[in-house]
Amino acid sequence: MNINRNFLALCPSYLFTEVGARIASFREKHPERELIRLSVGDVTLPLAPAVIRAMQRAVLEMGDAATFKGYCPETCYGYEVLTEAIRARYARRGVKLSAGEIFVSDGAKSDLSGILDIFSCDNTVLVPDPVYPVYADTNIMAGRRIVYADANGGNGFLPLPDERVQADIIYICSPNNPTGAAYGYDGLKAWVDYALRRNAVILYDAAYEAFIDGDLPHSVFEVEGARGCAIEICSFSKTAGFTGVRCGYTVIPDTLEREGVSLSGLWIRRQSTKFNGVSYITQMGAAAAFGEEGERQTAENIAYYKRNAAAIAALLGANGIWYTGGRHSPYIWMRCPGGMNSLQFFGALLEGAGVAGTPGYGFGKNGEGYLRLTAFASAEDTAKACTRMGDFLKRI
Ligand code: PLP
Repeated sequence: MNINRNFLALCPSYLFTEVGARIASFREKHPERELIRLSVGDVTLPLAPAVIRAMQRAVLEMGDAATFKGYCPETCYGYEVLTEAIRARYARRGVKLSAGEIFVSDGAKSDLSGILDIFSCDNTVLVPDPVYPVYADTNIMAGRRIVYADANGGNGFLPLPDERVQADIIYICSPNNPTGAAYGYDGLKAWVDYALRRNAVILYDAAYEAFIDGDLPHSVFEVEGARGCAIEICSFSKTAGFTGVRCGYTVIPDTLEREGVSLSGLWIRRQSTKFNGVSYITQMGAAAAFGEEGERQTAENIAYYKRNAAAIAALLGANGIWYTGGRHSPYIWMRCPGGMNSLQFFGALLEGAGVAGTPGYGFGKNGEGYLRLTAFASAEDTAKACTRMGDFLKRI
């Protein structure tokens, strides 16, 4: 028996272990001080009432033989009420999808890793640096070659394609975790054109699309040509607070082919072998989140987080600190003051203000010198953290 030795090439997350240890030590040393965690990437507000009601109705249906549901009849597609709700949401942004192009899942992370099964391990993968670590790690596990697209202060953490780079699979995360930066139409069009020229496929992670305001694309399919080169992966986690419920969806255009083979056909084959669907109760809750009342209620929750993000961004702006995010995203990505590296500044902010962020280095080498703050704490805690950070920034 041999193990998959690719796992040995994964970077152990020393940094996050160190962060956890420092938080634990802060709590032990200062039991009287209140720690505010602006490091948490999980939602905190409860599910919308319309979602809860839909799930309660679905529970009752499961208790009645006349309405009981077993396996989802078309495991990969989801119940019609949900795929129609997703279709309608895309249509509101001018994107026409057919029901067969939408694949319901238990969340974006599962699909981001599962989709790789349909691609050869000989492909070269292009991953932005810094970014959500799952993209690189899932490909390292499969032994694929990875090249990185440098995101940095110079390009506003929105890298554009470099024609010299030969990539077959391209990851784009917009709005981005951890930087909060979001592409406009021109930036996305540059990536779509690059992918089309190279016959590559874009894996577009739209997990934070609901945070966008103003005229930015919510979906890669708002960009001309994307149907010929893109797969979009999205989630109810941050849109509707489903991190603990688990529901997402992947969109694969039915005309998208490589080597004359339909990619959605491969995905259906993969899913029907390795996946058995998402619970009826969950799907009914997700459909309600995209209904009229549910969408209004979830938008109120997102507006709450966005007010937190705006407060943090305003504080940084007032103190002359460079940052990205904070507007189309729950993340604020700040440059560490005084030339500190990300772990030094994390430690200084923890000790000096009792506020925890996440050192940027944990998201890639280009994250060095930056700290990620999140908007998911309560409004009261965020306001308190801003006051403390304001005092702290004046002292250093
Ligand atoms: N994509 C990005 C960029 C994320 O930040 C996250 C979660 O933090 C996910 C995907 C995972 O989403 P899900 O909860 O749907 O698995």
